[in-house]
Amino acid sequence: MRIGAHVDSVDPIAEAAARGADLVQFFLADPQGWKAPPAREDAEAIKDAEVDVYIHSPYVINLASLNNRIRIPSRKLLTQHAKAAAAIGAKGVIVHGGHVRDGEDIAVGFDNWRKFFAQAADQGGFDVPILVENTAGGEHACARRLDNIARLWDAIGEFEPGFCLDTCHAWAGGLEFPDVVDAIMAITGRIDLVHANDSRDDFDSGRDRHANIGAGKIDAEELAEVIKRTGAPALVETPGGAEEHSADIARLRELTA
Ligand SMILES: [Zn+2]
Repeated sequence: MRIGAHVDSVDPIAEAAARGADLVQFFLADPQGWKAPPAREDAEAIKDAEVDVYIHSPYVINLASLNNRIRIPSRKLLTQHAKAAAAIGAKGVIVHGGHVRDGEDIAVGFDNWRKFFAQAADQGGFDVPILVENTAGGEHACARRLDNIARLWDAIGEFEPGFCLDTCHAWAGGLEFPDVVDAIMAITGRIDLVHANDSRDDFDSGRDRHANIGAGKIDAEELAEVIKRTGAPALVETPGGAEEHSADIARLRELTA
């Protein structure tokens, strides 16, 4: 099992070493902002490192949005991130499934996703896999519940995107453990990465609050079972720094051994 953590972006390889992590995820730019990621001076060092690297795109991105002033910059920002991620040899760029607003037709949201990939394909596609992450909340989310994930894949599956399964989001989003793995695999055919997080909130609560492994509402054995079934690398996005993450990683190694 390859296990790691989401870390600060200043020196991600040092952060990996401090946690004994096999992989790390970090942001290339302000996760709440629309600024393009700057080029990294440590690109070669990151590429050469043993540690696998994943990039989480900014939270402001919503490729499903029916609002031009969100959707168009979202496409641009994710494309910029994919380029910057490829430049450091990243294994994937993670993007949330997005949502439409109350009263809007979610079918248009799925079609907006399709258009994003179709436009990119016209321009040669991406040099790094785009991993769509399931989300925890809202009734108009594209990637919370299985029926909508299936509709999303009907729209974008031909472009062969990847999937990132967040266990906190799956739990809080109301997806049954451990069956969620087979259910997702039946839709997407792949799970590329697990965000291995416990949840501070109840099953199907719709709330997105991550907890350290064993400190939340998810049974640790079930959490481990989900991770094992995916066969994918996993990383924690849990509270705290190197010390807490090291403990989470050690716990996951023990549980999945
Ligand atoms: Zn996540």
